[in-house]
This record gives sequence, structure tokens and C-alpha cells, in this order.
Amino acid sequence: MKYYSTNKQAPLASLEEAVVKGLAGDKGLYMPEHIRPLDKDTISGLKNKSFHEIACTAAQAFFGEDIEPETLDAIVRDTLSFETPVVPVRDNIYSLELFHGPTLAFKDVGGRFMARLLGYFIKKEGLKQVNVLVATSGDTGSAVANGFLGVPGIHVYVLYPKGKVSPIQECQFTTLGQNITALEVDGTFDDCQALVKSAFMDEELNRHMKLTSANSINVARFLPQSFYYFNAYAQLDKIGKADQLIVSVPSGNFGNITAGLFAHRMGLPIKRFVAANNRNDVFLEYLHTGVYTPRPSVPTIANAMDVGDPSNFARILDLYGKNGNPHAEISQLISGYRFTDEEIGATMKQVYNETGYVLDPHGACGYQALIDNKLAPNETGLFLETAHPTKFKGTVDKILDADIEIPAKLKAFMQGEKQSVGMEKDFETFKSYLLAQ
Ligand SMILES: *Cc1c(COP(=O)(O)O)cnc(C)c1O
Repeated sequence: MKYYSTNKQAPLASLEEAVVKGLAGDKGLYMPEHIRPLDKDTISGLKNKSFHEIACTAAQAFFGEDIEPETLDAIVRDTLSFETPVVPVRDNIYSLELFHGPTLAFKDVGGRFMARLLGYFIKKEGLKQVNVLVATSGDTGSAVANGFLGVPGIHVYVLYPKGKVSPIQECQFTTLGQNITALEVDGTFDDCQALVKSAFMDEELNRHMKLTSANSINVARFLPQSFYYFNAYAQLDKIGKADQLIVSVPSGNFGNITAGLFAHRMGLPIKRFVAANNRNDVFLEYLHTGVYTPRPSVPTIANAMDVGDPSNFARILDLYGKNGNPHAEISQLISGYRFTDEEIGATMKQVYNETGYVLDPHGACGYQALIDNKLAPNETGLFLETAHPTKFKGTVDKILDADIEIPAKLKAFMQGEKQSVGMEKDFETFKSYLLAQ
């Protein structure tokens, strides 16, 4: 399968090129040339299959031309060593819990898949060491670092803003060692991101070392997220609840919801999507006005969604642009809602008091968007619970006036020893550091 750039000014790329490069030469995002639909029998048969089998079916449609079945099967098996259960919350509203992976957030799926796929290409082609640079405000760094931990031929540099990530998040990427280096930058998240961008553009540095990025612009990170949409459908179909399915996705860079839109394009019967935002609501504004105006992000308690210029918007436009009126198609399929910190807190408190279910601030946006979308009695609502609430324990405990229990997996990270390298926020210092590696 070939991959084209959303900007249409770069040559077609192979899967390997798309994964190793991340972003196309014309700064567009790579899209698969074909999205193969699954036939109706395959879709109605999903309910009798395991998560592994379901994921392999979807993976085959995207990667089957480029990777032999046994290898793809093994990559999928290694990636999905955990479940993504659908849990009832109230009436006809269900939570798709995506937080049962090693770092307790949905990004584990894409992070692990990309690491294994890149590792496979490096081994097959005998490539020289590939260096992954990733700037993080918390969740991306931990998922990417844990996904790539111990993968031969790859070194990961996680850049994070000193004192601005929660201690629980910090220990998930600073205690690993091996091929993971945490760089504690004396600056903000934007400074970290600027350092990574400058590094990708610096010719001398790119001659010295092979650099790639591992955020959701990378096809190997965002496409595998479609697997759990198929699996959630199968679980709901099993209990007769999949007929009129509305799916709500807490969104930041819109990689997660875009994977759902791909599943839909492949024939998964989802009636409508709901994009849930915090106060960073440029997508909602686009739905209302047809005009897309990126803005600097504002900080919220659902901080993994603090994005002012969602990178995957280009992919959504491309998916629905073929008939000349993407806005009409997009606004028909996707509804949008936005929530202030106060509203997010009120939702978390209400759901906890009424049902006992503990939402994290991101999942709370997804849940409340379904309520505001006013489901019909025959419709089933599914929201993606993107992170375990203890990842945001300080915020959650305060809002719920509770002391939620930290899972054993997370405690294990917290016992490790923090190892990080202090870094100035100016590019020359960062560059000299990398050149010396
Ligand atoms: C990354 C993240 C999101 C946003 O996902 P996108 O794919 O960027 O839209 C939502 N919730 C949590 C917990 C996250 O870590």
C-alpha cells in the first residue's frame, strides 16, 4: 500500500517510509491510498471473535500488503496484551475503558504498535539507529517510552517541561533507563515542542543521526487505534446494543477520533460521532462556522486535550473532502461539545455520586457530550475513557473528595529511581547534546 500526503505535494511513500519519516516532505500527513471495507458478514461475525482476531482483521486491511501475516499477527499480539472492556455506566451509556495498558492511557495501543512496527523495519532493513524525539506534557511521553523500551535499534529522547508534569506521569518515563533518555527542559511544553521541531529541520543534526517523531501524525501510531472501535462494537453487538451506536471521543489532536472515522469508513456501523473538547474548541467552532482558526492552547484540568491546532484535522478534511463539501459531510457525521473545568468537575462529581463510577477529566468530557447530545431511547452511547483516573489523582481526589486507589502497575513505576538529564531551552545547547551522542 502506498501513502499520500494530505498536502499532495510530496511523492507517494511506502509504509516503511511513512513510518520512518512521520511527516511528509511537504509537511502534510500521510494517508493510506485505499481504505478497504470489511464485508457485512465479517462485521456481523466480529461478536464471535477475540480482540486479537478482531485486531488482526483490521490490521490486515491496512498493513496486509506490506507485512506477512505471521509477523503482523505477532506485532498485534505483542501490542494488545491487555483488554479494552466496555463497561455499563448508566441507562444506555457505556464506557470503553482504554486504560488497562502499561501506562494506563489509550496511547499505549498506538505507542506499542508503532514501536514494534519500526523495530521490525529496522531489523529487516538493517537500518542504522533511529532516534525518536518526543515532546510531552505527560501522557504521550510515558506511552511512547514504555512502548519503545528495549526495542533494539531505537533510542528515545523524551523532552518534558521541568515541574509541569504530575509526579505520577514523570515517573513513568524517567525511571526506565535502557534506550530511554528523559530530558528535563527548563521551560514550558511549547519550548519542548519547539526544540523537537527545530531538531527535525536542522540539516547538520539530520546528517549526524536519523530522527523521527512518535506523535499521532505518525500512521503507525494512529491507525492501530481503529482496532478497539471494532472490538467495542463486537462487545456491544454481543449484548444486542450495537444497532444505533453513538460514539463520543475526548479529543485533543484528534488522532483517536480519526481512527474511529477510519473504522466507520471501513463499514463499522456507527451512527454518529461526538467530538468532546475542553475549552480548546477550535474544532467545535469549525463545525458551527465552517471556518478553521487555530489558536494558542489554554490550560485545563483535561490537559492531554489542551491543543489549539489539532494535527489530525488535516486527515479529517481529506477523508471527507472528495465531494467538494467536506464541512457538510463532517458536520452531519460529527457533533461537537465543549466543557469548562467547572463543568468537567460537576460531571465527575455527579456521576460518582449517582453511579459510583470514577471518571477522569478527559472521559468526563466524553460522557457529558453524550448526555448533551440527547440520545434517543433506542440509541446506545459509548464514550472512550482515555486514561485511568489515578493518572490525574490530585485533581480527581479534590473534585470527588475521595482518595482513589493507585493500581499496582502505577505503584511499581513510582518505586523506580528518577533519572533525567537537565536541559536548557535554547536549541544550540540541545543540538550540541544530541551531536555528542
Ligand atoms: C492524548 C489524550 C487525549 C486526546 O487524544 P487525541 O488523539 O490527541 O485526540 C485524550 N485523553 C487522554 C487521557 C489523552 O492522553
